[in-house]
Amino acid sequence: MRALRHPRLHGYLVFAEARLASGRLGRFAAGPPRSAQHERREPVRLPTMQTLVADHPLIAHKLTTLRDVRTETPVFRSLTDELVTLLAYEATRDVKVEQVTVHTPVAPAHGVKLARPTPLVIPVLRAGIGMLDGMARLLPKADVGFVGLARDEETLIASTYATRLPADLTGRDTFVLDPMLATGGTLETVFGMLAARGASSMTAICLLAAPEGIARVHEAFPDDFPVPVRVVTAGLDERLNERGYIVPGLGDAGDRLFGEI
Ligand code: URA
Repeated sequence: MRALRHPRLHGYLVFAEARLASGRLGRFAAGPPRSAQHERREPVRLPTMQTLVADHPLIAHKLTTLRDVRTETPVFRSLTDELVTLLAYEATRDVKVEQVTVHTPVAPAHGVKLARPTPLVIPVLRAGIGMLDGMARLLPKADVGFVGLARDEETLIASTYATRLPADLTGRDTFVLDPMLATGGTLETVFGMLAARGASSMTAICLLAAPEGIARVHEAFPDDFPVPVRVVTAGLDERLNERGYIVPGLGDAGDRLFGEI
């Protein structure tokens, strides 16, 4: 297998190679920034806190247009919507189902339906709202909670200004929508809220992730954490800049989705 090198994620990639050798890998790639030309890589899945970087030419194509500074808000919104639906397809791969039997016009057919309790989708205000329709398209019966976090632009520390979550998430798969996994502070906080309420799995869907953010979330929810923790993203970029923006990133996702307010 071709070695995948990333200055800050080397440990993860080594682990990923071990997983590849054991044959437990899916159709994802993790590795160097996706900002440059899209190139096919060996499929790789990262460790217990699974970080899945979707490796698909349509996702790469849409992501490239999304990044482009010339892409205006209406197109940015619809691309975000489409990308989230594509990412949701993989993010829901392990969602709980139960066996059912239906009757076709010809004979009984055994199949599955989503198990109860239904999954909970949590867009992180404000930018996560731009991802909700794309997620609801695949999980129309999911309940929706909300968490609002604002980042102090000086300290880069996120503080919570709104929370609307069920008190008890026992047995529920949860999906956090946040376009940019940058420092990881927001996701660490939101996952912490979900874990404290008893969620049975926590999956973040992000348009882009920085290695620093992945590392922080992994540190907060290490391999022996009792609940599956996943990050599914369309791209893993190079780094954060001094203002906490992902490089090359796509700028401020909230502003690009909803305008500067
Ligand atoms: N939030 C954004 O909107 N963009 C970044 O690059 C980082 C955090």
